[in-house]
Amino acid sequence: MKFMGFDESFDVIVIGAGHAGCEAASAAARMGAETALVTLSLDTIGQMSCNPAVGGIAKGHLVREIDALGGIMGRVIDRTGIQFRLLNRSRGPAVQAPRAQADRALYRAEMRRTLEATPNLHLRQGLVIDLIVTDGRIQGVELQDTRRLRAKAVVLATGTFLNGLIHTGRRTYTAGRAGEPASIELAESLKRLGFPVGRLKTGTPPRLDGRTIDWSVFEPQPADERPVPFSFATERIEQPQITCYIGYTNERVHETIRANIHESPLYSGQIKGIGPRYCPSIEDKVVKFPDKTRHQLFLEPEGYETYEVYLNGFSTSMPAELQQELVHQIEGLEEARIIRPGYAIEYDFVDPRELTPFLETTRVRGLFFAGQINGTTGYEEAACQGLIAGINAALFVRGEPLFRLRREESYIGVLIDDLITNGVDEPYRMFTSRSENRLALRYDTADARLAPYGRRLGLVGDEDWERFNRRRERLARLRAVVEGTRFKRSDPTYAQLSQRLGQNLGDSITLAQLAQRPGAQPDLIYDLLPQEVRTQTSLSDLETVLADIIYSGYIEAQRATNERINQHDHIPIPANFNYRAISGLSREMVERLERARPETFGQARRIPGITHGALATLLVHLKLKR
Ligand code: FAD
Repeated sequence: MKFMGFDESFDVIVIGAGHAGCEAASAAARMGAETALVTLSLDTIGQMSCNPAVGGIAKGHLVREIDALGGIMGRVIDRTGIQFRLLNRSRGPAVQAPRAQADRALYRAEMRRTLEATPNLHLRQGLVIDLIVTDGRIQGVELQDTRRLRAKAVVLATGTFLNGLIHTGRRTYTAGRAGEPASIELAESLKRLGFPVGRLKTGTPPRLDGRTIDWSVFEPQPADERPVPFSFATERIEQPQITCYIGYTNERVHETIRANIHESPLYSGQIKGIGPRYCPSIEDKVVKFPDKTRHQLFLEPEGYETYEVYLNGFSTSMPAELQQELVHQIEGLEEARIIRPGYAIEYDFVDPRELTPFLETTRVRGLFFAGQINGTTGYEEAACQGLIAGINAALFVRGEPLFRLRREESYIGVLIDDLITNGVDEPYRMFTSRSENRLALRYDTADARLAPYGRRLGLVGDEDWERFNRRRERLARLRAVVEGTRFKRSDPTYAQLSQRLGQNLGDSITLAQLAQRPGAQPDLIYDLLPQEVRTQTSLSDLETVLADIIYSGYIEAQRATNERINQHDHIPIPANFNYRAISGLSREMVERLERARPETFGQARRIPGITHGALATLLVHLKLKR
């Protein structure tokens, strides 16, 4: 509908259908806002620019939180994941997390289907070149094809596209991703509005033709037998699961890289932007770890219907012909052909300290930023910001108070708080160590922590809400059984247990107490449940209940430690303080502290990326020196 010089009018416009944009548009539309999702190409909705995988440590937690709030990423990956694995299975539940390899094409198709089935959501293909702002308030957007779209709120989620510049060897060209144009004019529009812009970089490995790989050389890595879904709504992963493979680089590859390091734009000075520390290129790994004789690689098939294989761990921006030579030097890849070479990309991001906790910009009312544009890296980090920005765009349109999550209750809250308080000096990725409360932020408690918010916002439907309540009641009943089931010395089971664990169990012991004894794994407790309860109980429910019980003491101790740490902000740090002499500090933490040279403990606390553990270690040393 034409409206005062505009071709169409909406409540909310979301720019960019990447991981942030899809969540933002879906949330705003489901909250009742007439929403347009404007993106460069409808064929790349939900495109995974790099690794076709979702989840992993901390990232898997984010997906669970997105799901609990009523977001869509978890459901989409559950329908399109081709290899599910629960990471850190052997470690504590606080750091376990699901990860799934996706069929890249199916993920895109399923995301598009999900969006197209959403009421109030309108897809529009086009390149946004300008933001229309009057009197410090967003009015709409202008497209390259001359259309002007009006909106009361706009979410900008343009990923790596702003002033994107691709590097392969010495060749550079503007692009948002390989094969897609960069957003040049929109980047200029942001600068005109006064947004402070910086430059970051990321990279991706070559994709191989699976028919030219000698698979027999590689170690198979099968999917989990019992795949753990991301969404609380998914009962079972139905689709067949595939195997990935593990391999290694070797000294010959490293030697070739060293001999040609001047060809890498990372080392020739051609790339200025800072890259993600935790996804280093193979050039970086070889230069920074000269003593390592090999680096691990994962060969990950890109889907059921393609022979394209993702060479995880081999991100590079070396010239294409050199990439081919390097690949041939890897055992098992002597004949392998590259389908798409790897590359690096530099792009603009906006200083996230410009944002409020609601992801609205302080410069333009009704304008929200989400995703990689805020200096983060990763699909999950992008998606959770999209969800929060989409929710708030809808609330803004309604004139209602905006919504924020606190650090103590979610990794999403940690991420946003870190971004807006500290800004970024390198692409920001989520880690469990970024949270002071990680024991309380387990992936299996995301629903208890966040579903009530999702319900209140109108994003958790009746069916999901009923499922949530059923689970909550089930867990409460189970907890009562675990705390109430007691074995006395006179019970035959008591003697067997005592013998099996090799421990004195006192006069009597409850299942809850037993679960806290070394060696008492959840499956042992499961077998000890009363018969009528056991038949009604899943092992995963029991694991959640036991983790709640086991961690309750630690969570309390953690809260007390946090309070203690905050009390020491005034402690001075001498100018010549030697961080390298502290054995408990990682190299990364030492680098960050040396770069910032804080004068007090309080300043050290606010340095981006300093972990809670590092602060505790630093505090002990500072106190010893006093
Ligand atoms: P994107 O997924 O980039 O989506 C942006 C969307 O905006 C696209 O659909 C685009 O078409 C659209 N768009 C852009 N400009 C306009 C415009 N003006 N008008 C309309 N539409 C527009 N992450 C990791 O965690 N690890 C890695 O190793 C890693 N490597 C990467 C390597 C490469 C080469 C790239 C490109 C990205 C890599 N990433 C990596 C980052 C990851 O892809 C992003 O973090 C994530 O996709 C960001 O999501 P987003 O929604 O913010 O943006």
